[in-house]
Amino acid sequence: MVVVGAGAFGGWTALNLAQRGATVTLIDAWGAGNARASSGGETRVIRAAYNGQRVYIEMARRALDLWREYETAWQRTVLHRTGALWMFETGDDAFARTSADPMREMRLMLEEVSLADAAKRFPQIRTDGLQRVWWESDAGYLLAREACELVRAACVRAGVEYLTGKANAGPISSERMSYVSLSDGTRRDADAFVFACGPWLGALFPDILGWRIRATKQDVLYFGTPAGDRQFDAETMPVWVNLGQRIMYGIPGNERRGFKIADDSLGGDVDPTSFERTVSPASVMTARAMLRRRFPLLARAPLVHAEVCQYESTPDGHYLMDWHPAARNVLLLGGGSGHGFKMGPAIGEMASSLVLSEGKVVPMFAYERLRTMTPARRYVRRRA
Ligand SMILES: Cc1cc2nc3c(=O)[nH]c(=O)nc-3n(C[C@H](O)[C@H](O)[C@H](O)COP(=O)(O)OP(=O)(O)OC[C@H]3O[C@@H](n4cnc5c(N)ncnc54)[C@H](O)[C@@H]3O)c2cc1C
Repeated sequence: MVVVGAGAFGGWTALNLAQRGATVTLIDAWGAGNARASSGGETRVIRAAYNGQRVYIEMARRALDLWREYETAWQRTVLHRTGALWMFETGDDAFARTSADPMREMRLMLEEVSLADAAKRFPQIRTDGLQRVWWESDAGYLLAREACELVRAACVRAGVEYLTGKANAGPISSERMSYVSLSDGTRRDADAFVFACGPWLGALFPDILGWRIRATKQDVLYFGTPAGDRQFDAETMPVWVNLGQRIMYGIPGNERRGFKIADDSLGGDVDPTSFERTVSPASVMTARAMLRRRFPLLARAPLVHAEVCQYESTPDGHYLMDWHPAARNVLLLGGGSGHGFKMGPAIGEMASSLVLSEGKVVPMFAYERLRTMTPARRYVRRRA
């Protein structure tokens, strides 16, 4: 089997396939968690609050368990459990409220806390203007690009052949693809193919995906905390999400890169291969406004580091995990839509079950729903 793309989706799928006895080649153009990949950032949030959507809550539950299992096997900590504080500036807290019961059933805790309790527990966060606050205790953050490399290394140990190269989809005939061609002029034959190419997936299959996987520029900013001040470290500061006019979120820690803030709104369309990764002044202004509003001690904190990444969104914000409509041995895997990283281990299990004919396509992730959409459809943001 050939898996193209060693990001969160492809890496975990290759690993799972190999562990289940398949012969696997994993190919990536620039390497696992590279600076252009959507999985290439320093950190990513892991949480299970998901607007009450059971499919995702179950996947998050499974992913949490698997991240822990692999951490033990690797003897490395990549999941930092800080908890997550959900801060709602309007009275509409359905995103959390509808998640609490299904999460409880799955032994995950999400509870409403009073503004007074939140302010007492986290004095470094200003709660003015908030209507409701929820606390998710099992949430935290993952070391993203480090985890990608750990998964790649685990693949190699499990017998996966890992190649650096650009793969092009081979021709499809009689409902099958028989090879991919590589940038060095060689080709790889296989019985089945998984294309987990993140923001490149649309361009790789322009006739069936094209605009349906949209790559948008997302700026991620890191601000410097005062010298010796531990209030914004992962030991004392949780992951936070502020849901107001826009959704903004942040992560403490970040391998000493600073206090991370990002805006979840979709940026402009980009070509993930060639766009210049320069942060826009507007993003810095938006982040500063959030610092002033919620983290006044950091209002004048200097910008010390920045990343420019891209979301690879489907119009409805749900993943794509389904067969190519014209080829029964080509699995299309992607559409992380700004919330896919945490799910990597669960996605790897589900995708490899499909490839090994042991699983069924989840309707929410099916290609058919994308096929029937029109380009005019508005893209939704449904993540944290
Ligand atoms: C700023 C930002 C913040 C995010 N925050 C979160 C979060 O907090 N929590 C969360 O769960 N998710 C988050 N996400 C989303 C998550 O990071 C992505 O959904 C996920 O990483 C996508 O993984 P992927 O494997 O599909 O894509 P990628 O990581 O992009 O991997 C695709 C790989 O395919 C390779 N490739 C592409 N084309 C070819 C080809 N033709 N030949 C060979 N190789 C090829 C690339 O080099 C790349 O390594 C965030 C994303 C961004 C950008």
